[in-house]
Amino acid sequence: MLRIATLASGSSGNCTVVSDGRWNILIDAGISCKRILDGLTDLDLDPLSLSGILITHEHTDHVNGLTNLLKKIRVPIYAPMATIDAMASRVQNLIPDQCWTFEPGQCFGIGDLVVESFPNSHDAACPVGYTITSGDCKMALCTDTGVITREAWEAVRGCGVLVGEMNHDIPMLRNGPYPAMLKARILGEKGHLSNEVGAQLAIHAAETGCQHFVMAHLSEENNTPELAMAAAVSAFQAAGAAPGEDVLITVAPRHVNSGWQEVPSCSL
Ligand SMILES: [Zn+2]
Ligand SMILES: [Zn+2]
Repeated sequence: MLRIATLASGSSGNCTVVSDGRWNILIDAGISCKRILDGLTDLDLDPLSLSGILITHEHTDHVNGLTNLLKKIRVPIYAPMATIDAMASRVQNLIPDQCWTFEPGQCFGIGDLVVESFPNSHDAACPVGYTITSGDCKMALCTDTGVITREAWEAVRGCGVLVGEMNHDIPMLRNGPYPAMLKARILGEKGHLSNEVGAQLAIHAAETGCQHFVMAHLSEENNTPELAMAAAVSAFQAAGAAPGEDVLITVAPRHVNSGWQEVPSCSL
């Protein structure tokens, strides 16, 4: 049994909880400590039962709550060495023997859960995505990447749930108020996935067993849940799939807890 919940998603903060009922993992801690603790309590999880926190990269919307969280609980932090170094200016209380480092692509265990990391392409020190597997149930999280890396494409195979980036609608971004440099950054190879490209990763995941696509990291200024959903639905239909039947598509709420979502075992 494996289940996930998002506590927040988007440029104002990201935090995802993954649990097999015994081993409880956070992916990123980009909202306030209070919101993380409240979110865990709402999910009936004791914050002291956290087994580890996986960090995707050092941007504030992924590590913002870490300083205060580490004042309250002692929990191992997992990230590439370069990310730990880059976090040092943003996160206090990081004790070296509490940090577990790995190379992107490396696989490791947290209790009974198997964690696999894969490199993403983003303007951070060493951005990664993760898959977490329990028995024949696997979830994947891939956000904050300008392109779908070959490794990400491989990693999402066989996941029952994909938390995947649908950051922006390209016309909305191009015509929006952002300065030209910021637009270029978001659209660039080390930026974020558009709805169109994000949907391609989801289709590939669905073709290899994914039954639930959680659309994540939607931009507040350059996207809407409706535009992301329309892009996903039309891409799935073009690929010959029936959204809602073959695959469930939901939006990770920006500010509130999604509640637990079961990770089904791979359907293939
Ligand atoms: Zn982000
Ligand atoms: Zn980022």
